Parts: sequence; structure tokens; C-alpha cells
Amino acid sequence: MEPTRPERAPGGHARRRDALRDLLREAGLDALLVTDLVNVRYLTGFTGSNTALLVDARDDADRGEDRTVLATDARYTTQAATQTPDLPVLVERACAPALLDGRAGAVGFDSAHVTVDGHTDLVTALPHGELRRAPGLVETLRAVKDAGEIDALRQACAVADLALTGLLTADGLRAGRTEREVARELEERMREAGAEAPSFDTIVAAGAHAAIPHHHPTDAPLADGDLLTMDFGALVDGYHSDMTRTLVVGTPADWQRDLHALVAEAAAAGRAALAPGTATRDVDAAARDVITAAGFGEQFVHGLGHGVGLVIHEAPAVSATATATLEAGMTVTVEPGVYLAGRGGVRIEDTLVVTDGGAVPLTQSPRDLVPESRDEK
Ligand code: ZN
Ligand code: ZN
Repeated sequence: MEPTRPERAPGGHARRRDALRDLLREAGLDALLVTDLVNVRYLTGFTGSNTALLVDARDDADRGEDRTVLATDARYTTQAATQTPDLPVLVERACAPALLDGRAGAVGFDSAHVTVDGHTDLVTALPHGELRRAPGLVETLRAVKDAGEIDALRQACAVADLALTGLLTADGLRAGRTEREVARELEERMREAGAEAPSFDTIVAAGAHAAIPHHHPTDAPLADGDLLTMDFGALVDGYHSDMTRTLVVGTPADWQRDLHALVAEAAAAGRAALAPGTATRDVDAAARDVITAAGFGEQFVHGLGHGVGLVIHEAPAVSATATATLEAGMTVTVEPGVYLAGRGGVRIEDTLVVTDGGAVPLTQSPRDLVPESRDEK
């Protein structure tokens, strides 16, 4: 944790709380109790590990004061003063119940983030009010990124691009190296390029392992002719990137070229379908239809993509069963894959931002099966 690092929302946290208040009023809530750490961070900039936030539906300006109260325990008072100088801080170990003390009216809570035991404590703490389920309100706001967030995501993607370029330039995908060595090198290169950490456990899957979408790297050595899938990302200022490339070790066989071309075509169709107003299930279909028409529909075993931001998988889902509609400012992945048990697989994934003019890829590494650096030799 880097408590004094400035958040990427200059003045933006108050704006986000204003937008949340609109949702609270629409939902008929007098206040929202926010208990998820990521949601608290999004609304305030505070990154402590024990916290809760009470956002009052009444406008800050109504009484000339911010009616939002942050709660945390005594370990974090200095950090809270630095990160949220604009908010009153309630110092209590049991943050969420303490924020309800003395309140009345309808208080929403995020039923997706509160345990049954936690709920019992909240009911006890609110004898004169009414607790109401209100899941996903902050997540709805988080799905549409502001300029500072997109900037952080762009940097997180650029860091992953730099790591891959470095790996390929150093001929890092030689036969004999292990999956684990390649994963470690990617992660080290991301840190050198400015990542706080990898945004998730790096996936490196060679040969038959490339048929396993979420394979964990092993000490298996790369061999000539292996398909090699790398799925990785960087964390920059709390924001994640997510990219997958499949390359071949040595010279590709015809079936590998064909499979890669098919998945590349599906990925391109998915990216082209990203536009404000489009249902994400239609984006999934645009890519999936390409793979299904080629006879590999059964081997594309997951959704096309997901939102990316403060969490690696967040709203909106991009899948056949998703109900979301795209808006400008959403950042999503497009990641079709075809997995052939025992032989290998291909997945191509980019992180993109949806704009009024279409989707702009934030991950920019070449998508070639054979890296350019090797082609030239
Ligand atoms: Zn990924
Ligand atoms: Zn992904």
C-alpha cells in the first residue's frame, strides 16, 4: 500500500458521490452504506483495509457540508487524513454498524458484499431505520470510466505491452525455457516498466497446456512447434490491464496458422462490434458466430470478455447471457479462444475503451502468431 500516492481523480471523488446520490434518489434510498473496499476507494480515494462509507442521498451543498462519512479504525487515521481530507472520519473498529448509529430512514446496503452475520449486526445497529438491499449501485458507476481512470488503464496496458516487447526482443520464447521462467520474466519486466504488481497471476501455457484457458505455469519446457498462450496484465495506480497473445515456438504448422487466423478474425469482429448502445451479448455473438461458423463453437468455452478497472473482472460482462448495454467510457476486454484438448489452443485478448467513434484498443502489442523479430531472422 502506498497511502500518500495521489489518486487519479482530482476532484473526481466528490463528483462520483454526486452521481451516486442521483442513483440513491432514483432508488428511493435516504443513504447507502458502502462496505466493499474497492467501492470505498472509488468514492473517496481511501485505500485502508478496514473501512466503510455512508453516503447520504441529500446533496452535499444543501447544508454546505459533505454529509458523507468515512469510518476506519485507529491504524488508518493518518492515512485517512491524507487521502480523504474532504471527509469527516469516524474512528471505530466495527466500521459499518458504527456508521448507522442514530440513523433513521431507508438505508441501502450492498447485499452482494455483506455476509449473513454482517447483516445481523447492521439490523441491530439500525433500530429506527430500514435496511434495504441495494446491490451493484457503485459498480454501475464504476463501469463507465472518467478520463483519469482511462489514463491509468492506458498506462497499465502500455506497461504490459512493454514487457511483451522486451520478452520477444530478448528471444524469451526459446525452446527449453519453462512456462514458469517466461511468466516470471513477464512479471519482472512489468515491474521494471512501472507496474505496482501483475494484475493477476500470469498465465503461460505451452503445447497441450494451451488448451486449458486458465492454466497455471509449470516447469514444463517449451518445445519447438508448441502453441504458447500468455495472458497477463499490469497494475498501475490500482487499475488493471488484461492482454492475451498466442505465439508459436519455432515454426507454425498449417493447423496452427489456420486456428490463429480464425481466432484473430473472431477477435476483430468482436472489437468492431463495440459501440455505445450495443448490447454486450451482441458483441459476444459477433465474435462467436465466426468461430461457430468454422465448426469450433463447442471449443470456445467462455464468454467473450468483461469490464476492467479497479478490479480485473468487473461490469459489464460481455457474454451470451449478459444483459448490459455498452456506453462510451466503458473499458472491456475482447478475448475469444478456441481450445483443442491435447493439442493446444489460441486466445487473443485486448483491453479496449468504448468511445462514440468505436472502440480504441489500449493494449497495442502485435497479434501475430510469429513475432516480427523472429520473422526477420
Ligand atoms: Zn486475460
Ligand atoms: Zn480477461
